[in-house]
Amino acid sequence: MSVSKIFSLSSRVRILGGSSNFVRLSSSNTEGKVEKVYPPNTPGYKYVNAEDPSMGFREMSDRAAQTVFWTELARGFAVTLAHIFKEPATINYPFEKAPLSPRFRGEHALRRYPSGEERCIACKLCEAICPAQAITIEAEERKDGSRRTTRYDIDMTKCIYCGFCQEACPVDAIVEGPNFEFSTETHEELLYNKEKLLLNGDKWESEIATNIRADHLYR
Ligand code: SF4
Ligand code: SF4
Repeated sequence: MSVSKIFSLSSRVRILGGSSNFVRLSSSNTEGKVEKVYPPNTPGYKYVNAEDPSMGFREMSDRAAQTVFWTELARGFAVTLAHIFKEPATINYPFEKAPLSPRFRGEHALRRYPSGEERCIACKLCEAICPAQAITIEAEERKDGSRRTTRYDIDMTKCIYCGFCQEACPVDAIVEGPNFEFSTETHEELLYNKEKLLLNGDKWESEIATNIRADHLYR
């Protein structure tokens, strides 16, 4: 079967099931030439598995020429050369980075309001929902009657980046930001405290706010 024939056939057929060996021909093709129809006497279906090779003189000499002259090898070599000399498909990390989804769940951060006041109201919902028990919160009442945390720790080596903490937070205080480059050399550096989390929030606030805005329809 020639390449042009394969393309013309594939453009006209519609696959009914992923594992099916049969395709249903579109109505425009039912009038065309169909070599094998299955089930017999059922118009509109065509057998799509590899067919028996033709034993005609021209087809046989084509196959013999391919075998003798290794044309597959030459064509494969040409494809390899084309891949070598064209633009690389991979990115040159860390100098280039691929775009991230607004839903990307990276390094944690505690956010503040534009006034500078921290958002967290110490409700402890994030601590309660965390399946890895990575969050530890202690809280007390301030002089003005508001409730704030005195301790907010996340053990990043326990965290499984499920995002439950940010989903549970009623004030969008704890979030998983876009930063994925926070590998360390020691375990201790991944035990984040409130100061580190607030610093992350200050550093990534514009990106985090943009991502929350982009995703607000779906939350
Ligand atoms: S992302 Fe999941 S595992 Fe990590 S701190 Fe939040 S709730 Fe816990
Ligand atoms: S980060 Fe959010 S969920 Fe966690 S204690 Fe603070 S306000 Fe509650």
